[in-house]
Amino acid sequence: MTEEKSLNFLEEIIEADLAAGKYPDGIHTRFPPEPNGYLHIGHASSICLNFGLAKKYQGKCNLRFDDTNPSTEEVEYVESIQRDIEWLGFKWDARYFTSDYFETLYQYAVQLIKAGLAFVDDSTAEEIAATKGGINEPGRNSTFRERSVAENLQLFEEMRAGKYADGEKVLRAKIDMAHPNLLLRDPVIYRIKHAHHHRTGDAWCLYPMYDFAHGQSDSLEQITHSICTLEFIHHRPLYDWFIQQLGIFPSHQYEFARRNLSYTVMSKRKLLQLVNEQHVAGWDDPRMPTISGMRRRGYPPQAIVQFCETIGIGKRENLIDIGLLEFCVREQLNKTAQRAMMVLDPVKLIITNYPEGKTELLEADNNPEDPTAGTRQIPFSRQLWIEREDYMDSPPKKFFRLGPGLMVRLKSAYIIRCEDVVKDASGAIVEIHCSYIPESRSGSDTSDIHVKGTIHWVDAATAGTATVRLYDRLFQVENPAVEEGDFKAYLNPQSLQTVTAFIEPFLATAQIGTTFQALRKGYFSVDKESTAGHLLLNKTVGLKDTWAKK
Ligand code: ATP
Ligand code: MG
Repeated sequence: MTEEKSLNFLEEIIEADLAAGKYPDGIHTRFPPEPNGYLHIGHASSICLNFGLAKKYQGKCNLRFDDTNPSTEEVEYVESIQRDIEWLGFKWDARYFTSDYFETLYQYAVQLIKAGLAFVDDSTAEEIAATKGGINEPGRNSTFRERSVAENLQLFEEMRAGKYADGEKVLRAKIDMAHPNLLLRDPVIYRIKHAHHHRTGDAWCLYPMYDFAHGQSDSLEQITHSICTLEFIHHRPLYDWFIQQLGIFPSHQYEFARRNLSYTVMSKRKLLQLVNEQHVAGWDDPRMPTISGMRRRGYPPQAIVQFCETIGIGKRENLIDIGLLEFCVREQLNKTAQRAMMVLDPVKLIITNYPEGKTELLEADNNPEDPTAGTRQIPFSRQLWIEREDYMDSPPKKFFRLGPGLMVRLKSAYIIRCEDVVKDASGAIVEIHCSYIPESRSGSDTSDIHVKGTIHWVDAATAGTATVRLYDRLFQVENPAVEEGDFKAYLNPQSLQTVTAFIEPFLATAQIGTTFQALRKGYFSVDKESTAGHLLLNKTVGLKDTWAKK
């Protein structure tokens, strides 16, 4: 990086901490996903932030699975999360699971009980809620609040041993039922849940609440800067309270604003609904805002990282234009993607003065942006496929494509002149007849004819075919999450369209995951379900932002 970028508020804090000699061993961050879904672009922002800060300040960043909720977590999610982080180009220094700390956390709870700072409460969830009070009204002490330490210890042990049913008892911190911050009014820190956990199996029927697990886990890993999203700002005093009462490593929590993207939703719960109700083909459906969906669609990881760096971090929530992400994708792919020709809506073009049975191989650049990418040979013969929209019977003035008598260049090939069209009974064009100028061959053009337009084409005799999935926005409205009623009512029914296209022969053997630029048509990527005999492509992104104009 050559240009000096101004520091964001977290970098300012970290630089001040380092300058004050607060962390002689360097900073230590963590990325703490709950394995209850696939990661989305909002998580990418948090990943870039946490791993990015560690990298910038030669610190460390852990991956910690926040797996305190046994009923929603699965191994599939753990694996997908790891794959996504690695694919984005980041490496964790250590990997932990909050469940690794279940025994330690239990002992921390015992420590609080012994200090008279926690008690077992037999009240129901409704009773606890009813005594919480309100913003201007203090709560009421539970009738179980003054249980002796000995009784609390015994009950807590029995809770662990499985003596009680779900909801029968909870462990609460004993703080202050009149505290202005409602979260500090004797919060529940352990609940009974007889559920199988994806890692600890049936070893526990007692699980810590988020607030009792997160800060302590940070502390156990000696996390210096624990970065989370703004909704946790009111939890910070509780985070500090536990660390202070337990006398453990003083991790600190900092908050930044969630990142949301236009025309999509960004909560795992909502994304799960889309998957379960089959509005999309899975978590990695290319229309999904998930990292795996973007990978399948052909987004390069560098584009996602660049996008996250461009939007940066802030303290106020806002909606980021999805067009910015697409801009980053285009910018990356323009530099790296192989060029090819593909015709999506074909009509036959016959070059009437080109010898029957002749085929020649024309030379074309693989990527004009990259001189090292080399060239390839494209077969050319008498019958070609061109795009239906590249011909008009009565074209407007600035239509630099084909129409009666008009001339155009076939990319990497010859200049042609439109002589005639053949229509069927319904008036639809079935063939366009053109003549070509033999001296106008690209690279050795001596014709002295200048034409304004160039169109792409595919040789009919050697063309392959591909099934192409064309995507539009997943939702019809900018921010479905804030619209009235069910967010799914705003899904775009036209978000997926499938067509059959003709492709240059070399593309037929393109490997899964390959992304190329189809000249004039956009970027496309070979789908994971593509097979040797049947190429399946996803449209990654168009060449320009045509959507803004609609
Ligand atoms: P969701 O609401 O989508 O389920 P979450 O916050 O519950 O998200 P976690 O798995 O708990 O998901 O998130 C892991 C980390 O990613 C947290 O530190 C969280 O703050 C961060 N994160 C989640 N969503 C976003 C977002 N939209 N923008 C920025 N960071 C996010
Ligand atoms: Mg969460």
